[in-house]
Amino acid sequence: MVFPKVGNIATTSVVTIGINSSISDAVKKMFSSEHRNIVVTEGNTFRIMRVTDILNMKARGVNLESSLKDSNLPVIPVVNKEKTVLYTMEYLNSETEYVCAVKDDGSLYGLISHTDIISSIDPDTLMDNFCLVDFLKLGKRSKWIKKDLKTAELLCEMAKDSFESVIVVEDLKPIGIFTTKDVIRVVEKNEDLNLPISRYMSSPVETIGKNSSVKEAIEFLKKKHYKRVIVVNDDGKMSGVVSQKELIATTYSRWAALTKEYQKELDDINSALISKNIKYEEMASRDPLTNLYNRYKFLKLYESSHKTMLERDNDMSLIMVDIDYFKKINDTYGHNVGDRVIVEVSKTLQDSLRNIDMVCRWGGEEFVILLPAVNIDNTLLIAEKLRSNIERLRVEGANEVTASFGVSSVKRDDDISSVVNRADVALYLAKSSGRNCVKKAD
Ligand code: GH3
Ligand code: MG
Ligand code: MG
Repeated sequence: MVFPKVGNIATTSVVTIGINSSISDAVKKMFSSEHRNIVVTEGNTFRIMRVTDILNMKARGVNLESSLKDSNLPVIPVVNKEKTVLYTMEYLNSETEYVCAVKDDGSLYGLISHTDIISSIDPDTLMDNFCLVDFLKLGKRSKWIKKDLKTAELLCEMAKDSFESVIVVEDLKPIGIFTTKDVIRVVEKNEDLNLPISRYMSSPVETIGKNSSVKEAIEFLKKKHYKRVIVVNDDGKMSGVVSQKELIATTYSRWAALTKEYQKELDDINSALISKNIKYEEMASRDPLTNLYNRYKFLKLYESSHKTMLERDNDMSLIMVDIDYFKKINDTYGHNVGDRVIVEVSKTLQDSLRNIDMVCRWGGEEFVILLPAVNIDNTLLIAEKLRSNIERLRVEGANEVTASFGVSSVKRDDDISSVVNRADVALYLAKSSGRNCVKKAD
């Protein structure tokens, strides 16, 4: 599983203020920067002040000119920005809903909210590790009401705030639920709206403990076909409501994003492997000195060309080339010059032929050429042209270079060795006839 780095999900546009400043300075700074929170710094210790903290202070009659130092603001946990978000998970239960991303020297890099963390973690981890209580911090406040509230009043409120459902409580313990579906029933039946809601609610309700995992909650919803889970504290009192939509949306939207990421990664790996394969295949197909096809590749090329020849009822010919007195070239001018002769001869062969002709380095100074769709007469002319081009070739450090040629047509039932054997016999004939000439197999 891929987890993003803390630094990658942190918001870096953070407003900060030193702890020795006053509350009102902080408020001014928040106002001018249009931020709903401000990080209060004291060396490498960070606290957070949110709008709600300011409202609380005002309610408590705190003097806004007093120092932030005396405000008892909560310290927020820090995580190095290079760590993955997994390192932030342990802080999801902390009092404030923030974690600071810090640089190596402990200085502030950015701020991450619990929502940022949860939405960046894959659903499996999320489902296994997150309790509903973490989830509740994210969701919209759900509405719960006392059982003796008049039905008419509730309907008014529901219309005003467009709640889909309300939980009916007694001593803060959920005892029923009233949904938009019930609204329709009540209206349709023309019920007495002066009666308390407890008359019309669906009851009892099933609840789930706040320490249940998200996974358990989803399973619960699936099994019961409910649309929402009513979450309760250890003492059975209301903790909140989480809708199916919220659970699914959060977990699966992340899952979809991850799947896409993986697919991209897989595609990249795949195309890298394919191009590597092509490269290796190419490497395994060619002779390193001349870059001509090697014998292994030539066998494959012969097979497919022979098949095409049969399918199209074409001619095809094969030429064997052997450099004359090559041992002497090596002995007289040295092996390096010998190599150069081989390279130059191979270039001459290729440059004199069509693109579809296949030239192979068969062995030391021997080459085999396959000519698709060429009859024996034309092959003799081509071989003669090759011979003459080699004769005219000048290789640095060596005297003149010549080669002998054995030519054969490819028959319908020829495998590679039978046609090569015939061409070889013709080549031997060329050698014994004085070299630097072309001979045809009978
Ligand atoms: P012939 O005219 O009868 O073909 O005489 P030749 O000397 O060419 O005959 P032979 O086939 O016996 O000699 C080939 C020599 O080519 C033997 C070997 O040492 C040399 N050789 C084989 N591969 C290479 C190579 O890659 N580089 C060099 N420099 N020499 C090679
Ligand atoms: Mg030879
Ligand atoms: Mg030779």
